[in-house]
Amino acid sequence: MPTPKPHPKPKLAVWKFASCDGCQLSLLDCEDELLTVAGEVQIANFPEASRAIVKGPYDLSLVEGSITTPHDAERIHQIRRNSKALVTIGACATAGGIQSLRNFRDVKEFIAIVYASPQYISTLGKSTPISDHVHVDFELRGCPINNHQLLEVIAAFLSGRKPNTPPHSVCMECKRRGTVCVMVAHGTPCLGPVTHGGCGAICPSYNRGCYSCFGPKETPNTTSMSSWLVRLGSSEPDLVRAFRSYNAYAEPFRKASEAHEHKDH
Ligand code: SF4
Ligand code: SF4
Repeated sequence: MPTPKPHPKPKLAVWKFASCDGCQLSLLDCEDELLTVAGEVQIANFPEASRAIVKGPYDLSLVEGSITTPHDAERIHQIRRNSKALVTIGACATAGGIQSLRNFRDVKEFIAIVYASPQYISTLGKSTPISDHVHVDFELRGCPINNHQLLEVIAAFLSGRKPNTPPHSVCMECKRRGTVCVMVAHGTPCLGPVTHGGCGAICPSYNRGCYSCFGPKETPNTTSMSSWLVRLGSSEPDLVRAFRSYNAYAEPFRKASEAHEHKDH
């Protein structure tokens, strides 16, 4: 009787758009666990780790970075067509990233100032998240993402279940680790109440306020957050800057920053 052929391993691909590579590095940072991942999947495309490329279709595509050029706006559609499941990783891919600060100004002015020959620059007026262009199966937040959460997401997709990455705020993580609230106890401005958990509340554990690198949690109350920051001495420009960082173009933060920008004028 012929020996049955082993099942082929699921193909995992990692793709980069406008980004700093920090989220891809989170996967390489997994070190010990990476060997286990490599044992369970065929790493078919991961330029940060290897030049070898295996043709698609891919079972799971992890996408880092935002869409900022006409070429990338086409490329993401090809990747989507070639992927069974597509997960975006990090603030760039899920919210447009720090580069979405351009969305609040005229990008042509920036190009004219920065480049000696602006006619060679092909760019879009806005930096947008991947979900503005194609269907996304799951968004993993953070700048960079948490590598344990990334492993959970990969494991969940390989076993056909929902990833366990709770959408609650950083405050819940402070409570869980027993960190005293920096805002209540010390009057330190902190965006933890409106920020998606996942980092383990690193900054408050070092007596620093959270600046929301994980972006908005589900249904954040930015109005209440702003009034607390004002009580602690923040001005309208401070509030605009607080909401305009890595996740500036995530809708709740975009709306909050625009509201305070208008009040300032
Ligand atoms: S989300 Fe942050 S760490 Fe990840 S690629 Fe973008 S800038 Fe880099
Ligand atoms: S800024 Fe906020 S979300 Fe980012 S690591 Fe610090 S506590 Fe976590």
